[in-house]
Amino acid sequence: MKSVLFFLVCFLFFKLTLSASIPQAKGSIEYRVSMLMPNSHYFEVEIRLNNFDEDFVDFKLPVWTPGSYLIREYPKNVEDFKASYGEDEKPVSIQKINKNTWRIAHKKADFVKVTYRVYAFEESIRMSYLDENHAFIMSGTLLMYVDALRNTSSVLKLDYPENWKNVSTPLNRLEGKDYAFYIPNYDILVDTPIEIGNFETIEFNAVGIPHEVVMYGASNYNPDQISRDLTKIIEKATAVFGENPNEKYTFFVHHSDRGYGGLEHINSTAMGVNRWTYSNPKSYNNFLSLAAHEYFHLWLVKRLKPIELDEINYNEETYTDLLWVMEGFSSYFEEKIMFLAGFYDEKTFLNDLLHAMENIQNAPGSETQSVSEASFDAWIKYYRRNENSDNSQISYYTKGMILGALLDLSIINATNGKITLDNILNQLYHQFYKKKGKGIVSEDLKIALEKESQSNFSGFFNDYVYGTKDLDNEKYLNYAGINLVDLNASENTKSIGIKYRKETGGLIVSYVLKNGSAYENGIYVGDELIAINGYRINENNINQMIDRINVGEKATFLINRKGVIKNVDLEIRKDNTVRYSYELLKNPSKNQTKVYKTWMGK
Ligand SMILES: [Zn+2]
Repeated sequence: MKSVLFFLVCFLFFKLTLSASIPQAKGSIEYRVSMLMPNSHYFEVEIRLNNFDEDFVDFKLPVWTPGSYLIREYPKNVEDFKASYGEDEKPVSIQKINKNTWRIAHKKADFVKVTYRVYAFEESIRMSYLDENHAFIMSGTLLMYVDALRNTSSVLKLDYPENWKNVSTPLNRLEGKDYAFYIPNYDILVDTPIEIGNFETIEFNAVGIPHEVVMYGASNYNPDQISRDLTKIIEKATAVFGENPNEKYTFFVHHSDRGYGGLEHINSTAMGVNRWTYSNPKSYNNFLSLAAHEYFHLWLVKRLKPIELDEINYNEETYTDLLWVMEGFSSYFEEKIMFLAGFYDEKTFLNDLLHAMENIQNAPGSETQSVSEASFDAWIKYYRRNENSDNSQISYYTKGMILGALLDLSIINATNGKITLDNILNQLYHQFYKKKGKGIVSEDLKIALEKESQSNFSGFFNDYVYGTKDLDNEKYLNYAGINLVDLNASENTKSIGIKYRKETGGLIVSYVLKNGSAYENGIYVGDELIAINGYRINENNINQMIDRINVGEKATFLINRKGVIKNVDLEIRKDNTVRYSYELLKNPSKNQTKVYKTWMGK
């Protein structure tokens, strides 16, 4: 157990000390986090800085967490920052330099101590949280660092209520102490959550490595089924890369009455799921596919990563144009793993893919934003969506997932089934993460694809990655003898180009489709729809009312806009959205059969 971690620590240390941007200094850090008044939702933090030899020292708290590309301004929750030096705790002057930096004049003492409190009551797998039942520590939201000591080891001690029996984290404990941990460096601390409270733990071995599932909150899971099914996922994911980088791995699962999401970490993941998600096969599969996605990140993004993420800048945005690979391919392999592990049949696997293709085809944003731009601008667009987002942007998850599938089909076709996208990722992982110890740029992926397939991917990258050309899904599916069918082509559905939601008293427009009838004739998001051609409408009859009017004819909509009643004339148009299904060719060629079988892992 220790040897793997030790190698990792040495590796990171070696790599980071080569950088001229990080100054070197003597010193060490000890963290202490107290949570003895959990109903207050405040963590009390104490940081002791020993033997530091500079004139001043800057304590910084990150403003974002790797994996979630949004500036979340963690310092906004910090209060009561104090600093002192020496055993008798003489006060030290403190200067706030910027939103996340506290500078203290450093006295020549054996140690300096800073203390502060952090409010933690936002229930999210990205944030630290504290209440009467449990604490979840995401150290990047809680614990400050000193630049010069980011790569040195430290110690973390926890004080928690006596009636809390469990502490779970992939961090190694100090000499068998439950409450004290060895921290190899600050990056690992940030990337390793800690769960404290009373919760159940499922332990199992998969691919020879101990795994645990921390189950916080009431739920209806079956431990045997969870360990059996997660083992299948772990085996399939590990098979892609040929090795598993864990010493031990933890799935942190938080149950609540809300939806779910996950965040990947270097040896763990945190997932928030509905507490009854295990009730039926479909929602249980949603849980498993989330686990598959997060587990795949162990390799893709945590190790084989964009070059820009080699060194994390916790103070500001870190831009990369590769999220379509990191998140999109992880979404594609999530599906592939679910299929190969036997949780999805071929139909589910293919229909999920076609559904993603529909989403991209129907979103006006796909004509505006390339998947490369979507990756780069995740900070200001994907994570800051508004009512116009479907018109102006695309999801790098969804389009990246499709591009993963199209590249997989391309390369299987070009090599007559000898090479798959799995092989390409495996190769990049070994070449860049293992041998060179550095991240990739998009050109590295293109070079690997071209080398292995002996074909040119310039057109693919220019059109589909850097450009916004319509995806030729038909062509790529045809490699596998699959015929794409648009079910809407033969239907005569009508549209005015809006989405709406029902609120007390009426239907409120929530989205206006770019270049649709409503867009061109002046219906706004927020308008209340009252009547069509003088007849009162509600959510049960609006579609029938529109359906009664011929394509090309106009209808008068009575609306309420911010308290002003007005009429808007709208032309009824044919609904141009696609709805995909597929057929397998009755007489596929030998090559099509080979591509299909290879793709399906047969
Ligand atoms: Zn992800």
